[in-house]
Parts: sequence; C-alpha cells; structure tokens
Amino acid sequence: MNLPPDYHMHTHLCRHATGTATEVAAHAVKLGFTEIGFSEHCPMPRDDWDEWHIHQRDLDTYLAQVEQARRDYPSLIIRLGLEVDFIPGQEDWVRQLAARAPWDYFIGAVHYVSDTWALDNPYALDEWKRRDVDEVWAEYFRRQTLAAESGLFEIIAHPDLCKKFRFYPKNDPAPLYEKFVNALRQHDVAMELNTAGLRKDCQEIYPSAALVRIAAQAGVPVTFGSDAHAPGEVGAAFAQALTLAKDSGHTQTCRFNQRKRELIQL
Ligand SMILES: [Zn+2]
Ligand SMILES: [Zn+2]
Repeated sequence: MNLPPDYHMHTHLCRHATGTATEVAAHAVKLGFTEIGFSEHCPMPRDDWDEWHIHQRDLDTYLAQVEQARRDYPSLIIRLGLEVDFIPGQEDWVRQLAARAPWDYFIGAVHYVSDTWALDNPYALDEWKRRDVDEVWAEYFRRQTLAAESGLFEIIAHPDLCKKFRFYPKNDPAPLYEKFVNALRQHDVAMELNTAGLRKDCQEIYPSAALVRIAAQAGVPVTFGSDAHAPGEVGAAFAQALTLAKDSGHTQTCRFNQRKRELIQL
C-alpha cells in the first residue's frame, strides 16, 4: 500500500517546531513518501497575537524554504499549504493570505474558542477548569462548522482537538459531529485524520472513530496529517490512521493542487 500524502507538517519558523522544509522533506523521502505538503501556522493579523504563529515577515522565508525543498528533492511532490486559524470575523485576513502565494490548500483550524483562549495551549490549562466542558465542545464544533461553511478551506484540521487534555463532555457529542460533517459534505471540504493526538494526553487520533465513521457514511473524504513539529515526526502512525480510515468505511483520500481537489483510492 502506498503512503497517502502527509499534508500537515511544520517548520522551525513557527517558533515551536524544529527543522527546515528541506530537512522535513529528507525524512519523508527516507520513509518512502511520494507526496507531502507543508502547512505552517499562518501569520496572524498582529505579530504579538501569541507565541506560536509565524511572524508576518517570515511568510516569504517560508515560501522560499518550500521552494528550496522542491529543488533539493525534485522526485518528491511537495505541496504548499498553510494551517490557517479560523476565528469568526477574521475572514478577510484569510482572504488576504490566500492572495499572497500560489497555495495548494488551506487547512482550516480551530484552536481559539474565544478571542484570547486557544484550548490546546498547555499554558492555559486552567481555563478548562473555569469553563463548562460541554459548552467548550459545543463552541469548538460551532466554529469548525462555520469554518467548513466559509469556503476558505479545503481541509479542516484535527476535528476534535478539544479532547486533547481529556476534558470530555457529559452530553453525547454525536449531534455536533453530524452538523459538522453535513457542512463538510455540502461545501466539499475534506476532514483531516491527524495522528498528533496519539502523542498527547488523549492518546487517540483526531478525530475519534465515531466521527471518522460518520464522515465515511456521508461520503466526506479524509486527508492524513502527522502534524509533525520535527522531521522525525513525519508520517508518524500513518499505518494506524490508514487502518482507522479503512475500518470506518473510507475508500478515498484527496490530493490538492492549486486549491483543486482530486479524489484517489486508498
Ligand atoms: Zn504547532
Ligand atoms: Zn493545529
């Protein structure tokens, strides 16, 4: 079985990952990948937004590093993507970013469930204890559903990141899943299987098997992402992610080129 593209990987430019694009690509070649894509954390409207997005002045460096990796590994297909935070009200900023480069795809990602709280930030764990977990999950999925409907993204990232620290809702989340998957289906947006969850407290791929199944039943295709923050994490647990996808009824994945989607057999 061929490895599906790893479409979620970072570089040192986001200040909490290591490796240049070339170093990441080298690792992908070693593992036998034929296609990968970078999806660095987007610049935010203000550089002092937080500590983990790339600075606006580094966007050109990012583009140049991906170009360099393409030159260094001409046999590897390297897509140019961006992991873009979805924050309601910032849609124009996302459109400005889209006009900045010949992107192959944008991965829409919800980390912020308010203007100031990114729920996956380990330094803001206390905020979880101040809040109602069911409300946080509902807001997380509400924002993700809006992201899917926005037309700004080809893929939605790590769809149940809200489980990262094992704060689970009392209510059955299935209705949140259904609504989200409906939006994905209606707007031809793919859902990411992100193996980083296996390396976090929740010790589970994002999203849960239940959500992967609902997507398969709705005909929503998946993409695969290691969310590598170091060259050695490229392709991490892809065998497990592939098994999850197939066992859940998925038969296809997608490739992206210049923001156009092509479905391929798994
Ligand atoms: Zn990151
Ligand atoms: Zn993310």
